[in-house]
Amino acid sequence: MPVLCSSCSEKRAVLKRPKTGHSLCKACFFWAFEEEVHQTIVAAKLFRPGETVGIAASGGKDSTVLAHVMKLLNERHGYGLELMLISVDEGITGYRDDSLETVKRNQQQYELPLKIVSYEELYGWTMDAIVKQVGLKNNCTFCGVFRRQALDRGAIMLKVDKICTGHNADDVAETVLMNILRGDIARLRRCTAISTASEGDGVVPRCKPLKYAYEKEIVLYAYFKKLDYFSTECIYSPNAYRGYARTFLKDLESIRPSSIMDIIHSGENLSVREGVKMPVQGTCSRCGYISSQALCKSCVLLEGLNRGLPKLGIGKHHRLHEKILSQQPLTEHEQRKLKSVDF
Ligand code: SF4
Ligand code: ZN
Repeated sequence: MPVLCSSCSEKRAVLKRPKTGHSLCKACFFWAFEEEVHQTIVAAKLFRPGETVGIAASGGKDSTVLAHVMKLLNERHGYGLELMLISVDEGITGYRDDSLETVKRNQQQYELPLKIVSYEELYGWTMDAIVKQVGLKNNCTFCGVFRRQALDRGAIMLKVDKICTGHNADDVAETVLMNILRGDIARLRRCTAISTASEGDGVVPRCKPLKYAYEKEIVLYAYFKKLDYFSTECIYSPNAYRGYARTFLKDLESIRPSSIMDIIHSGENLSVREGVKMPVQGTCSRCGYISSQALCKSCVLLEGLNRGLPKLGIGKHHRLHEKILSQQPLTEHEQRKLKSVDF
């Protein structure tokens, strides 16, 4: 006997919602998924009419679903937003070049303007070249820091008011877990925020409309909507620590689907004891980007790459920032320590 949709009781159910366990037909699933994102947007007051919003687009499932749903909800509910796509080209042959082709097709399909900013153009380094120098251990540190700034720079070029990213509930829960495991209180306090206010000049506010959307549902939505997305993993993706956190979370989800939401709620409700030292936000003396040190992470990493001392930005070498800024030479011992990279 075919199971009927538990929402409309008319059509045949084609799936069991991973988030709620309800058996739904395609149309009712689409509606539930889209309206939940709408509720998230409304409840958190993510946008104001007339704003220009840049959608961070990688060609992957999350950002493709985000672009599709944002366009649809903007029309359905009359948000009055001007939407654009912003992509970062990290310079990864065989991965980003292919996924950018998907973004270009999405641009046509959704009729949205697209801006691509590349690491090569911004920093003079592609990820291919960075991996050649630093190996496959810390490459994601470089990539993550550069991406954050690249998105801001792209957003400023496009004059957008806000950036929205495709982070989903699984990503947020995973980040909560990782910050707990690392004891990173400052990040733990920030990572569940659905939107960040501008932290200073050159930093565009960001938000996560898919914060409560389960990854499994995003995949189902993209599949049933036949969205055009790119599903290959980055060829430099060794991020083992995050991988373990992800596997752990998936294991928890398989025995209790609400684990994902439960972890997010735990993160949201944690309060940090008064008097815990938090980094003080200032600006980078070299490029003007936000930084809690004399030099921002991006400038330190770049300096390390340009000097052939890739470890400069890995780990804590804050006391060297002043030396770098005043162009004092590093001692031989310091140079030796920063050169060696364990492959
Ligand atoms: Fe960059 Fe690492 Fe992500 Fe690849 S896996 S795109 S190197 S952050
Ligand atoms: Zn800087």
